[in-house]
Amino acid sequence: DSPTPSDSKPRILLMGLRRSGKSSIQKVVFHKMSPNETLFLESTNKIYKDDISSSSFVNFQIWDFPGQVDFFDPTFDYEMIFRGTGALIFVIDAQDDYVEALGRLHLTVSRAYRVNPEINFEVFIHKVDGLSDDHKIETQRDIHQRANDDLADASLEKLHLSFYLTSIYDHSIFEAFSKVVQKLIPQLPTLENLLNIFISNSGIEKAFLFDVVSKIYIATDSSPVDMQSYELCCDMIDVVIDVSCIYGLKEDGSGSAYDKESMAIIKLNNTTVLYLKEVTKFLALVCILREESFERKGKPSTPAFPHYCIKQSLNSFLPIIVQSSVTSLPQAQN
Ligand code: GDP
Repeated sequence: DSPTPSDSKPRILLMGLRRSGKSSIQKVVFHKMSPNETLFLESTNKIYKDDISSSSFVNFQIWDFPGQVDFFDPTFDYEMIFRGTGALIFVIDAQDDYVEALGRLHLTVSRAYRVNPEINFEVFIHKVDGLSDDHKIETQRDIHQRANDDLADASLEKLHLSFYLTSIYDHSIFEAFSKVVQKLIPQLPTLENLLNIFISNSGIEKAFLFDVVSKIYIATDSSPVDMQSYELCCDMIDVVIDVSCIYGLKEDGSGSAYDKESMAIIKLNNTTVLYLKEVTKFLALVCILREESFERKGKPSTPAFPHYCIKQSLNSFLPIIVQSSVTSLPQAQN
């Protein structure tokens, strides 16, 4: 099934050699498959178009290409495909010899760049769970160096490649996908500013705007993201959705595990408080704060609203965040 000109959604292409991990990435990030199950995936042997816009706020498609795309095959209209592409992710298996992958990377990005220089070129150095920390850094340096040398030899210095170390066995793949998706959101600075104002008004340490289904974060305030905070927020989404699936649905199983009423506070035993609130059908605001500021900001005398101030800030900021997040993505529904 080939793309038509009416396919106007921003597209992310997932490419790379056979067995590099493309289907696994897609299944783990967008279809909640557990990493171990990917061991039994059949290898990709066709162009796979996965339209996730009905379940996710992120309104784009993933094209899972077979490893051996033949650019000289006249039936393969790569020009059409590249013209409609927002980001091209090239997956390299870091546990394997990557010389062939680098050749393929160069061929692919140089072709794509000639058709559409606006594409964001993203390289996932993948399966790094099998590498020691030193080995990871050395592999990234080596791949970075060789890929850019190849571009320089072809006088394509203007073609910029971004590199990410990824694995489906931890949160790095979600983190990398978040960055890729964020680059495709034109109003990202507006969203970030809003979140900055929001946290400074409510004593919150860190706030993420999450796509609930994929656990990609669409935006966060400008304080640095540490992996642990991000993982904590991802875990909270899982807990909330799971509990809601078990206890939140009607007797006959109807209803939604995530809706306008969705809201949760979890206090951890290390004085951290996690706060989740529905923003739209697909988005949630997830915040991290200290117990002290949670209590100080609240009114202990009104036990029903210990999170009084946060609630107030949320009430004033959520509508603006919703507004700008809805207008920020082309064709975002809801
Ligand atoms: P594709 O042909 O590019 O779609 O590759 P697959 O998704 O079928 O993956 C090939 C193999 O790599 C499978 O056995 C996966 O379990 C494995 N794999 C995928 N991602 C990772 C990863 O991050 N770490 C490790 N160790 N293995 C992975």
